[in-house]
Amino acid sequence: MVKVPSKIETWQMLAPGKMKRATIDVPRLEAGEVLIEIAGCGICRNDHAVFYGEVPTGSVTPRTLGHEISGTIVDGDAALLGKEVIIPPVMPCHNCVICKAGRENRCLAAKIPGYSMGIYGGNSSHIVVPLADLCYIKEKKGIPLSHFAVVADAVASTYQAAKRADVQPGDMVIIVGATGGAGVYATQICAAMGAKEVIGIARNEEKLERAMKFGATHVISSRNKTAKEILAEFYSYCMSKSLPPYCGWKIFEWSGTAAGQEIALELLPFIGKLVVGGCGTHQNECSFSRLMTLEADIIGSWACRPKYYPDVLNMVLSGLIRIEPFIKTMPMSQIKEAYEEAHRGGLTQRIVLTPDFEK
Ligand SMILES: [Zn+2]
Ligand SMILES: [Zn+2]
Repeated sequence: MVKVPSKIETWQMLAPGKMKRATIDVPRLEAGEVLIEIAGCGICRNDHAVFYGEVPTGSVTPRTLGHEISGTIVDGDAALLGKEVIIPPVMPCHNCVICKAGRENRCLAAKIPGYSMGIYGGNSSHIVVPLADLCYIKEKKGIPLSHFAVVADAVASTYQAAKRADVQPGDMVIIVGATGGAGVYATQICAAMGAKEVIGIARNEEKLERAMKFGATHVISSRNKTAKEILAEFYSYCMSKSLPPYCGWKIFEWSGTAAGQEIALELLPFIGKLVVGGCGTHQNECSFSRLMTLEADIIGSWACRPKYYPDVLNMVLSGLIRIEPFIKTMPMSQIKEAYEEAHRGGLTQRIVLTPDFEK
């Protein structure tokens, strides 16, 4: 039996670095909306970057952060009660020029929990969302519902990036930042889409070893190396496998760091593609005219089109993408410690917060 709450329990961000427990009213459901009981809310890099004031905090404070959410429908259309869902973090208007161009994941009027939905976000017991784009989880294959939160953003965003690069069977790809929160899924997704080479580049050698079990065909440690040294290592690997290092590779930049972006640009080959998925705030220097001589593409990728979610979910349920090894759950009451831990970096797993307000 589903339970409709009288209030929403939540953790609100008050100002950079400040968070407090709060109880707020359940908003009145409009037509086409449902109330979700939250099972899990992942901590994304953007969340702690906003919380610690590294990127603009946004106009509404106090408000609840968190946009990587899974849960159960507990109010709204009677036929949907009890259904388990993934909430796409970007819920488009489906009506603007961007949406009509088929690029609705970048809709400027989109509802994004924790960002553009007023005070409401995923670090809560419940949230009201439009039901149009929800992704229904019909079976879980033994995976806890809370874990599906990471599919909302970390997994789906790497799928979107692979689609933007048009990854095809037989492709050769490079993932810069292969061991990070998104990178661990980027390697798996490119492998699942049939890429014959998936080269993972990152700093942590222990995590790179793990990447070899999850999609990577080869790894290169970037620790204490210049971009040129990494390029030389990449060339010698290509020679050993009779692969052309100078053309055709599709490169994904998921680190969002200046160093990672420099490596990605250095590796960009003739008729290559570079998809930028990682998020950072620094400036890079690059010669635009090099793109002309290489006839290469640099493409941005942001979030994921809601229509792709059933495909992404199927890849998880069929075991093509493994999520459990990369998740650590923590009770939401430990949110301050969890944000701190995520912000400190070096985690081998993404933290998913599970609401424990009733305890
Ligand atoms: Zn995110
Ligand atoms: Zn739109």
